[in-house]
Amino acid sequence: MPALPPLNPPIRTLLGPGPSDIHPRVLAAMARPTVGHLDPYYLQVMDKVQGGLRELFRTTNRMTFAVSGTGSAGMEATVVNLIEPGDAMIVGVNGVFGGRMTDVAERAGAKVTKIERPWGEVFTPEEVQKAVDAVKPKVVGIVMAETSTGAYQPIEEIAKIVHDAGALLLVDAVTSLGGVPVEVDKWGIDAIYSGTQKCLSCPPGLAPVSFNQRAMDVILGRKTKVQSWYLDVTMLANYWGSDRVYHHTAPINMSYGLYEAVSIILEEGLDACFARHALNHRALKAGLAAIGIKYAAQEGYQLPMLNAVHVPAGVDEAKVRSDLLNRFGIEIGAGLGAFKGKVWRIGLMGYGARPANVYLVLSALEQLLA
Ligand code: PLP
Repeated sequence: MPALPPLNPPIRTLLGPGPSDIHPRVLAAMARPTVGHLDPYYLQVMDKVQGGLRELFRTTNRMTFAVSGTGSAGMEATVVNLIEPGDAMIVGVNGVFGGRMTDVAERAGAKVTKIERPWGEVFTPEEVQKAVDAVKPKVVGIVMAETSTGAYQPIEEIAKIVHDAGALLLVDAVTSLGGVPVEVDKWGIDAIYSGTQKCLSCPPGLAPVSFNQRAMDVILGRKTKVQSWYLDVTMLANYWGSDRVYHHTAPINMSYGLYEAVSIILEEGLDACFARHALNHRALKAGLAAIGIKYAAQEGYQLPMLNAVHVPAGVDEAKVRSDLLNRFGIEIGAGLGAFKGKVWRIGLMGYGARPANVYLVLSALEQLLA
């Protein structure tokens, strides 16, 4: 077989639902020499990554680390460790990712009760209270930033309701982490997962997770083995904890990328980073309003980093997306599920959340829709 043709990916501006544009410093970090996964240098990198993730999650949880795998691996890791067959779990479903969490939980043997909301809307504390009273679940799972709809779910009040009922709160922060405040300790989130390819501006491949002591006590008290060997937190704890026992070969260079990504956010400061996301979102929203484009998510609950907007009537949405890609090099996202063909998803995530990108996508859309 002849050699493969040279790898020459086109240069895009990634303004979709993720992956987002990678910060050049992150790409450079990933090209540093690979060391062994038990090399003293790498162990220091792991320590620093854990410390940085604790800052991002605003937690002191010891069990804060990066699962080897994408955001879905983080979802699976949190669910399969907390759930034993037959456990009752409530999942909030108002888009694709609540649906995915339901599937993952059912595969782990949970008896899942779904609470549902139309796409683009968020759950009220009262709805969660009613469901918790009726079901008395072990775990309540909720998506903070529903990437399929752009809805921004408030967490704090729900956390209180879940705890008062003696249950654990599991939060999907794949799209929210690094773009809006995620207060693991202050809100009392028991288990949480994220991904590297959204507001962390790192390639997909790692899933930051955190478990508090309540969650760890539940995991350590399990009667059955965790169904997944790869994602068993008690075994991973021996690698990410002080014992450093080999579990699997960590993706070393991805960890370098995450190290740099976390470092960049901490250099900017979390609050400044959130303010930048909010500012660019407001600018985009104003520009879109000027060309008659409206948001799909409930007013007052719209994510800054993921702008899901209605495709204007009579517009061939797929043609606009392909023109954006082919003529301007811009990727935006299509609608998923109930929003397929009806919505565009414009991401302003991490390194991508900057004025130049706001102007670029607005002016390109204006030309294409004129
Ligand atoms: N949860 C949310 C909210 C997401 O947006 C995504 C990915 O877009 C996932 C989970 C799954 O993450 P991944 O595609 O990295 O496996």
